[in-house]
Order: sequence, then structure tokens, then C-alpha cells
Amino acid sequence: MILLVENHLNFSSNFEKKITMKQIFTFILIILCLSVSIEGRAWGLLGHRVIGEIASLHLHESTKNKIQNILGHQTLAEVSTWMDDIKSDSKYDSLKPWHYTTIPDGMKYNETNVNPKGDVIYGINFIVEELKKGELNPQLEKEYLMMLVHLIGDIHQPLHVGNGEDRGGNQAKVTWFGESSNLHRVWDSEMIDGKLYSYTELTKIINHPMHEELVSWQSDSVEDWAHQCMEFRNGIYEYGDDYGWEYKYQYTHWDTMKLQLLKGGVRLAGILNEIYG
Ligand SMILES: [Zn+2]
Repeated sequence: MILLVENHLNFSSNFEKKITMKQIFTFILIILCLSVSIEGRAWGLLGHRVIGEIASLHLHESTKNKIQNILGHQTLAEVSTWMDDIKSDSKYDSLKPWHYTTIPDGMKYNETNVNPKGDVIYGINFIVEELKKGELNPQLEKEYLMMLVHLIGDIHQPLHVGNGEDRGGNQAKVTWFGESSNLHRVWDSEMIDGKLYSYTELTKIINHPMHEELVSWQSDSVEDWAHQCMEFRNGIYEYGDDYGWEYKYQYTHWDTMKLQLLKGGVRLAGILNEIYG
């Protein structure tokens, strides 16, 4: 009887050990999966959210109310990345060229071979026109609004206005603080994420446009927005491979980054006020 009880105890403790090991492995597996998916989703989130948040602070009261009716409890910051989320859904494949445009050095947009499948300038103009008509059903209106928030973000990332030579810096390979990367990714996310601000903290830091700036930025055309990105391009391509070049690069371009996020937010608000104000 004693032997039997001891055996039972041994069995129990072995069983517990097995469960514990199994639990540990499961736990490690979950952590690994989570870290991969978070990393995969992290690109570009912060910049888009800052632009959505800044815009929400420059809306007229009537615009705010109408947007709340469309989005419910969701904020502009939250829906700003929806257009990246749907990239995995083939239903929306035709929208993929809408995230960027190509204007070679020394050219204006209207002198280029515009992509017949559309681009970010076409996308923004198309959506603004559709939203202004006010005839969309609620689901489509919400989708178009979410797309507009995203696309106005994209067009303010200087490398979403590509020179036609390296897929907007995607082929410009760099090492960013020891990790292999490329210039596009550095501008999409790594420079911003590296500061370790939340999107609300970064909004507080950036959101101080002077009245004249606000008026002038909101009166520029969508094509102007793209042309202004090109002014930064030469500087963006001055990167190195010497040790610690990233510090200098970040320091040199941080003001441009903040300016572009601010312009994006202010202009998004201007367009939304025009549509819904
Ligand atoms: Zn995009």
C-alpha cells in the first residue's frame, strides 16, 4: 500500500514535471510567435498614428462630429494603418500602387508617365472627390475615410515619392544599428521608432504649427506635397557605412521627419474640414 502511494506520488510529480515542461515550451512558443508578429506589424505604425492624431487636434467641431458618426469610437490615429492591414487581403490588391508615386529628379508630376493603375496622388484626389459627393453607403464611406488618413500619411514620407531608380529606397541597403535594413525602412519606421516615443508623446512634441504655416500648408495642392518631398531627396541619399553613421543621420534628418509629420497632420485636417466642415 505504501509502495503504491509512493508510486502514485512519483507518477504525480513526473506528470507535473511533464506538464511544467510542456507549459514552458508552449509559453516560449507563444512568446516567439508574438514577438515575430509584433515586429512584422510595427513598421510604419507610429508615423501614421502621429499624423492621424495631429489631424484630430485641428478639426472643426462639426467635422469632428461627422467623423465620429462614421468611425464610432475609433480615432483617426487608430484607423490610420488600416490600409496596411488589408494588404494581405487580395480583395484590395488593386490599391497596392496607391501607397506611393514616382517622380524622377528634375521632373514635375505632370511630366511623368503616371502609373495607369493609380498612385498616391490619384488615390487622394479620387477619394476626396468621392467623399465630397456625400453619396457613399456608410461602410464605403468609412473605408474611404480610413484610406484617406493613410494615404495623406504616405505622401509625406519623402521616400514614398520615389525617384524611379530603387523602389523608393527599398533597394538602398544599409546597416541600421547593427541590423540589415534599407533606406525606405529607415524612413518608414526605424528613425521614428528609435526615439521610443508613443504616438501621443510625439504628437505633443511636434504639434506646434504657426498660424501662417497652417494656412500656407493647407492651401498647397496634393501635387505640391509630392514635389516638396523631392526637395529632401538628395540629402536623404547621403548615408554612410562608417561606424555610428546612424547617429549623425538621425540627428541630421530628425527636423525634416518632424516637419513632414506635422505637415501631414495639418493637411489631413484641412482636407477633412473641407469635406465635412
Ligand atoms: Zn502605405
